[in-house]
Amino acid sequence: MTAATTDHLWRHFTAAGASRLVIDRAEGCHIWDTEGNRYLDALSALYCVNIGYGPWPEISEAAKRQLDQLPFFTNWVGFATPPSLELAEKVAELVPIDVGRTFFVGGGSEAIESALKIARQYHRLRGEPTRYKFVTRRSAYHGTTLGALSVNGSPALRAQFEPLVPGGLRAPMPYRYRCPYCSDKPECTLRCADEIDAIVENEGPETVAAVILEPVQNSAGSITPPPGYFERVREICDAHGLLLVADEVICGFGRVGDWFGCTRYGIEPDLMTLAKGITSAYAPLGAVVAAPQVIEPFFAEAKTAFTHGITFGGHPLACAIALANLEIFEREDLVGRSQRLGPELKARCDQLLAEHPMVGDVRGDGYFYSLELVKDKETKETFTPAERDDLIKTFLTPRARELGVYMRFDDRGETCAQFAPPLVAGPEEFDEMVGVLRQVLDEAWERI
Ligand code: PLP
Repeated sequence: MTAATTDHLWRHFTAAGASRLVIDRAEGCHIWDTEGNRYLDALSALYCVNIGYGPWPEISEAAKRQLDQLPFFTNWVGFATPPSLELAEKVAELVPIDVGRTFFVGGGSEAIESALKIARQYHRLRGEPTRYKFVTRRSAYHGTTLGALSVNGSPALRAQFEPLVPGGLRAPMPYRYRCPYCSDKPECTLRCADEIDAIVENEGPETVAAVILEPVQNSAGSITPPPGYFERVREICDAHGLLLVADEVICGFGRVGDWFGCTRYGIEPDLMTLAKGITSAYAPLGAVVAAPQVIEPFFAEAKTAFTHGITFGGHPLACAIALANLEIFEREDLVGRSQRLGPELKARCDQLLAEHPMVGDVRGDGYFYSLELVKDKETKETFTPAERDDLIKTFLTPRARELGVYMRFDDRGETCAQFAPPLVAGPEEFDEMVGVLRQVLDEAWERI
């Protein structure tokens, strides 16, 4: 037996029979496995290595300085460290929330858990303890810890772990390509947003705490908001006294062509969840940013506290790395680059849409696109679950890797090919990614 089948590591979301790779080196937009194979990373690992793999010596220098000065102290019970204070200030400067406060955690799921708890305690402090439910969208992914899982929109992810935290409500996505309400109409009618209102009315607004949405929803394939969507959601939240949580774990830090999905689409959130790009994954870190109206009841009385904490939340090493990462973002104008060059990646995806019989739709923004794959473009006929499984697991994924591109073929909604390259990628990398996708789709089409 090889080391790959006998090692002691329990990999995440890895089927017992799945192939295994060990990645031991990276540079720029490329990763290498231990067999010496090189891959173009068209997914920024997991939508997170936004600055690419460098090397960026300033990050290692910042990490070393911090470890030498203060390897750890806590953000609990009145304490803070200079990097956590400085990073909270930097985040406040970047987010579209005036005078917000940032609560640091260890990653995206913990950010969602914390947002759920902030929302519940917020309503209790305001004398509305019956508000405990959360509206999210079908297929949406918000993490795997039990609370975050409870608000996930994918039944397949939830099934093994039920019963979950009660109160998870699911609204439809703004999924123009297959929208049951308006895909046959010239423009989106925003009925998908109105459904949130209907769900809240039906449940009783006095039982609902918040609506949690990604600006661009990853799962089901880069579902982008139609014009007016978030304005309508904001109105619904205001009408019913609900908090609006923008889950920016993927969209934040340049991914969708602006600092955040909220800035890109003019969303006015009460809470924002951040992770991934905040450190470009050079260290684990997540955060929840709260707007002044949310913070107010927590700070109104000297004895009140948000009764929640995580030992490593705001770890000084992770915060120092985040600060160095954000300096690189600014110096290299990576957000501007995502804005400027994103359309070039989209143009290549659109060309594939125009030319390839298997590509039914292209969605996304910035450096984040999904191409929905179909059996028949005219009828939008899609693959059966068995066909999808076979296509993705036994053909598309391994074949793209063989051709030197690490990308994702997603099956959490309809079958999608996904690109989310590091923001340092450019036309040369776009050509390679889309070229390899074209080749694997040509071969897959022949198989079909
Ligand atoms: N929210 C969104 C939108 C995500 O995509 C993810 C992870 O991919 C999470 C939350 C959970 O983040 P983490 O895996 O860091 O716990």
